[in-house]
Amino acid sequence: MDIKKPKTCLLTVTNQCVLRCRMCHLWQLNTSKEEISINDCKRFIDSLEGFGSEPIEVHIIGGESLIKKGILDLIAYISSKGSRTVMTSSAYTIDDAMAKAIANSGLSMLNISIDSLNPEVHNFLRGKDDSFQRAMGAIDYLSKYKAGKLKLGINTVISAKNLEDIVELSEWTTNNKNLDSLYFMAVMRPFGSQVDWEWFKKDGFSELWPQDYSKVGEVLNKLIELKKSGYKIENPVGQLQ
Ligand code: SF4
Repeated sequence: MDIKKPKTCLLTVTNQCVLRCRMCHLWQLNTSKEEISINDCKRFIDSLEGFGSEPIEVHIIGGESLIKKGILDLIAYISSKGSRTVMTSSAYTIDDAMAKAIANSGLSMLNISIDSLNPEVHNFLRGKDDSFQRAMGAIDYLSKYKAGKLKLGINTVISAKNLEDIVELSEWTTNNKNLDSLYFMAVMRPFGSQVDWEWFKKDGFSELWPQDYSKVGEVLNKLIELKKSGYKIENPVGQLQ
């Protein structure tokens, strides 16, 4: 059997988070504060040496990875090994000083969660009234320091609440010279909720599940058209189909 060597790995550094997103239950779980230490993360990174045919790209995920003490030191460590590092964040905690430190850490790409350009919609989905304003502020700070090294992307979860806003978000990202990419995810069973095939019919989730399937098809077809015309949409056409 031809088993290919891995090219990427996901490293969950924390389950703690600052947001209260409706599509995620991680923040409601009473998860232990005793989590993997930065030193153990480094030992794990060391163990990857020689495992792939080239340095393995490390995706740092959470929770909110940026609230993990020592996280930028870990990124610098991984970068020093020649690996690309990618992080997803709500950007809630990024101020000017942190933006500078992130840019200097060697992080290759930061994906920021933005679900709509309508602050009310974004804040509703993310569960905090200032989450939109903070994410936008973070993009401005990071743009000052990225200097061609750090790539900035947008991550968006498509749900019933932002279906109407998806095309506008694609246009905005594509026209923003500081942003490099846009990646869509479909709303799915919230992280940390019980396995249930009918989760999308249950109270608390059903409002996120689009009822108008023809509208969903219309939006996804439009995304395919935009991607083919050069928009910064990362999803493969097959996935959007
Ligand atoms: S989706 Fe991400 S940002 Fe939102 S609560 Fe869950 S871990 Fe935090």
